[in-house]
Amino acid sequence: MENCLFCKIVSGEMNTDFVYSDDKVAAFEDINPQAPVHLLIVPRTHIEDLNHLEEGDGDLIAHIYQVAKKLAAENDIAESGYRIVSNCGDDGGQTVYHIHFHLLGGRAMQWPPG
Ligand code: 5GP
Ligand code: ZN
Repeated sequence: MENCLFCKIVSGEMNTDFVYSDDKVAAFEDINPQAPVHLLIVPRTHIEDLNHLEEGDGDLIAHIYQVAKKLAAENDIAESGYRIVSNCGDDGGQTVYHIHFHLLGGRAMQWPPG
């Protein structure tokens, strides 16, 4: 997808350091971290947002959660706890329209979220 920031990042065009990479997803540090651990897990295929998920995307989403679990353990937040967030649309606070999952941890989260 032309002019999509996360397509450019996952394709390697931006020379981003990946903390995890495979044929389905790449994960990297958020440029504006909201917690001591703030990683973004991003599929390599361009899906605009959660509204554009299709039936066949189930395996991909399950895989993303497996990657999140692995990254949580690697970053020593598995026991202390963490949050996985996918913002959708304007009211959800989405700013990059290529679906992605935030992995946040290393501090106590608030509820309800802002
Ligand atoms: P959203 O607001 O769509 O849920 O999440 C987008 C996230 O991407 C934000 O947390 C923002 O800080 C992050 N972000 C925006 N541009 C860049 C970038 O160029 N590099 C990285 N690593 N993160 C970015
Ligand atoms: Zn994209």
